[in-house]
Amino acid sequence: MTKNAPRNQPLSGMVTPRFAGMSTFMRLPHVPIDEACDIDVALIGVPWDGGTTNRPGPRHGPRQMRDQSCMIREYHHALGISPFRLVNCADLGDAPVNPANLMDALERIGGYFEKVKAAGMVPLSAGGDHLVSLPILRALGADEPVGMVHFDAHGDTWDSYFGDNKFTHGTPFRRAIEEGILDPGRTVQIGIRGSLYGPEDKQWALDQGIRVMEIEECVDLGPDAVAAEARRVAGDGATYVSFDIDCLDPAFAPGTGTPEIGGFTSREAQMMVRGLRGLNIIGADVVEVSPPFDPGGGTALAGVTMMFELLCLIAERLADAR
Ligand code: MN
Ligand code: MN
Repeated sequence: MTKNAPRNQPLSGMVTPRFAGMSTFMRLPHVPIDEACDIDVALIGVPWDGGTTNRPGPRHGPRQMRDQSCMIREYHHALGISPFRLVNCADLGDAPVNPANLMDALERIGGYFEKVKAAGMVPLSAGGDHLVSLPILRALGADEPVGMVHFDAHGDTWDSYFGDNKFTHGTPFRRAIEEGILDPGRTVQIGIRGSLYGPEDKQWALDQGIRVMEIEECVDLGPDAVAAEARRVAGDGATYVSFDIDCLDPAFAPGTGTPEIGGFTSREAQMMVRGLRGLNIIGADVVEVSPPFDPGGGTALAGVTMMFELLCLIAERLADAR
C-alpha cells in the first residue's frame, strides 16, 4: 500500500542538466528520516565495510553510486512504468555507522532500519559490504523470518573467519538463519561460483534447505527460468532481495572486493531481476561496490541501475496493493 500521492519527483534532466545539482540517489529530494513519514520507498546509503576480509572499499559505495545515479532517467523502457509516479520516494541519506567498532556499527545500522520499518517505508539500500544486510534483516525479519532472493558469486554462509570471528561479509546469512530472521526454505542463491576452501563450504547451506543455484545451472536454465525458480522458492511471503555486485562477471563489474570470473552479464542480471516482477519485496540492497577498484564508475553505474530495476518492482507492487 502507498501512503499518499507521490510528492517527490527526481530533478528533471530537461530543466537542470543531469551532471548538475546536488548528488542524491536518482536525483530525488533528500528527506531526513524524522521528516519522512509520507515516504513509501526510502533509498538509503550504508557506508560501511568493516566486514570485508579481502580488498576493502565499499564504505565509499553510496557516494559513488549517488554520483552515477544521475544517469538514471524516470521511466523504465521495458516495464513501462515510472516508479516515481507510483510511489513517494526519497533519498534518506546514510544510515549511521561506526568505522572503528564492528559490533557498534551493526547496532547503529540495525536501529536505523528499525525506524525505517516502523515508519512504514520499504528500504532500498546501497552498501557497504555484505555484512550490512544482517542488521537490515534483523529489523525487517524481527516479527517473522523473511524469504530472500540472493544474487552473489558467494553464498556468504561461512561460519567464522581468522579464528572465531563470526561477523564478516562472508557470514551474514548463516547468522541470519541462526537468529531466526531469515527462512532458509524460502531462500534462493543465484550465481554461486568460484574456488572454495573445501567441499564443506557448500554443505551447510544445503543442509538448511537453501536453494543454491550455481552459475552452471543458471547458464543452463537461462534468466527467465532462473527467475521463475526464484519466485517459486520465495512464494507469496515477505521477501528480501540482496544483490551483491560480484554476481556480475568482473568484465562488467570489476570494482568489487572479491571478484570471480565466469559470472553474469549486466543484461542477464537485469532480465533475472525483471523476472521477479510481482514478488512481495519488503526491502532490497545492492552491496559490495568498491569505488577504489572502480575508477571509471562503471561498477557503480551497474549497481544503481540494478537499484532502479528493483525500485520499479517495489513501486509497482506497492501501487497494485493500493
Ligand atoms: Mn556477498
Ligand atoms: Mn560476493
